[in-house]
Amino acid sequence: MEPGPCPDLALLAAACDGLLPGPDREAALAHLDACPACLSQVSAAASGAAWMEAPARRRGLRRRAGAVAAAAILAGSALAGWAVARRGGAIDPIFEGRLVAADGEVLGPRIAGDTAMPRSGGTLAFRDGTRAVADPGSVLRVASPGDGERLRLDLDAGGVRMEVPPVPGRVRVRTPVGDVTVLGTRFSVRLAPGFGDPPGAPPRYLGVEVERGCVAVRANGHEVLLSAGHRAHLLSGGAPIRQAAQAQDGDLSRITDRLGDAVARGDRDGATLALEMLRALDPELAVRTLERILDPEGGR
Ligand SMILES: [Zn+2]
Repeated sequence: MEPGPCPDLALLAAACDGLLPGPDREAALAHLDACPACLSQVSAAASGAAWMEAPARRRGLRRRAGAVAAAAILAGSALAGWAVARRGGAIDPIFEGRLVAADGEVLGPRIAGDTAMPRSGGTLAFRDGTRAVADPGSVLRVASPGDGERLRLDLDAGGVRMEVPPVPGRVRVRTPVGDVTVLGTRFSVRLAPGFGDPPGAPPRYLGVEVERGCVAVRANGHEVLLSAGHRAHLLSGGAPIRQAAQAQDGDLSRITDRLGDAVARGDRDGATLALEMLRALDPELAVRTLERILDPEGGR
């Protein structure tokens, strides 16, 4: 698609923040999809905001990028957050959340350092309006916020769905595969081990799905922009791959073929990626396909 004339950068950032009405927003996001120049400007502005707020972290991020698969994921809305910070919006760090178990039982406050979650999962609610809804089996801790942050969570296993209101200060979710940093949007983060890894192995896969707003996913010098209805898949050490939330014609059979090929070749990274892509699009098909591949005689 032809991108057409480039809109104002502030307008593109507003579209990422969901501040534009429907048709204008769709047009702006379509332009970002088709115009790498504008995409890199929005992303650079967002990362510039984060780094200007916290110069010490820049070195840390670089070091980590050289070591493991450091994925810095910065909301496009960082541009708006930067404007707030420049106007002197004060960051109010949060060290405590209120935990409610998945069955509705109120478990009370969890402070920085506590391992927060019961096995059945639960919701952490914070006074800025941020909510973190953890999947069953997740290992999620409240941590102490760093420079420029108002809230930090450590996710070591499982998945979490985040709702983050756009107020000053970043919200960071740290994972062993990469970090997710955001100013105001709704998205989910999911970790998975590699294909064939034993239970309890460190995660090798990070999936990010955006429900609202824009998120730039950055890892190992590669970058993709996600708006609502998109996902990113990332393997430790690799580049993020973008996928539409709805499967297109032929997607499912292509991915199941790819999964079968990767397993046959013993390509565990390829199998991990194909399996998680399939799981994101159609979880039941993923389970059936896996059963068929691992036990071809089982159905007879
Ligand atoms: Zn453009």
